[in-house]
Amino acid sequence: MSTVTLSFDNGPDPDVTPAVLDILRARGVPATFFVLGHKLAAHRAAAERAHAEGHWIGNHTWSHTTPLGQAPGAVAEKEIGRTQALIGALSHPDRLFRPQGGGGALGPHLLSGGALRYLRNGGYTCVLWNAVPGDFHDPDGWVETALTLCADPAPAALVLHDLPNGAMRHLDRFLGMLLDRGTRFVQDFPADCILLRRGHAVRPLANYVTAPFEAGATS
Ligand SMILES: [Zn+2]
Repeated sequence: MSTVTLSFDNGPDPDVTPAVLDILRARGVPATFFVLGHKLAAHRAAAERAHAEGHWIGNHTWSHTTPLGQAPGAVAEKEIGRTQALIGALSHPDRLFRPQGGGGALGPHLLSGGALRYLRNGGYTCVLWNAVPGDFHDPDGWVETALTLCADPAPAALVLHDLPNGAMRHLDRFLGMLLDRGTRFVQDFPADCILLRRGHAVRPLANYVTAPFEAGATS
């Protein structure tokens, strides 16, 4: 039996997010929504409903343009702080933040030294992932990919997207297949997908921060 932590990134969307919430409610599945600041500013009601229904709200940058490790200059306040301020009372108490991978890739492009400092000083919990089925570019084929990823006995931190590309029309069927298999849905993220917990490093950071990386910044 597999364990899956479900998350929806890059929303909220005024049409897609409510439909996703309807499905999660009917299936009894908890999730986390990693929202973009610029979309939250326009579509807050969807995030408020998600929060009210027990889902967790996390921060996924304001603009989602360039991964923070590749962004020029000091953008942490603009991308992370501004979004967190807007999330406000909807925030999970651990201040969940997920960096942008640029298509799901893990690596030193995720964070700059400045962004890492900002997250540590702000007591953020930095959440990565280990299962990206690609619903953002494969709105029909992602289901098979995700079923395979979720068959792995290791706990999956599965990344889907509440984006208006049609992919979420398969969500109910997908969840039904997992539930039929006996998959257990949990809201906590697998320990090996947590980089910082409330500002404290809980894994080696060097692989996720752009050089120059100060080793002294790991503790
Ligand atoms: Zn994203």
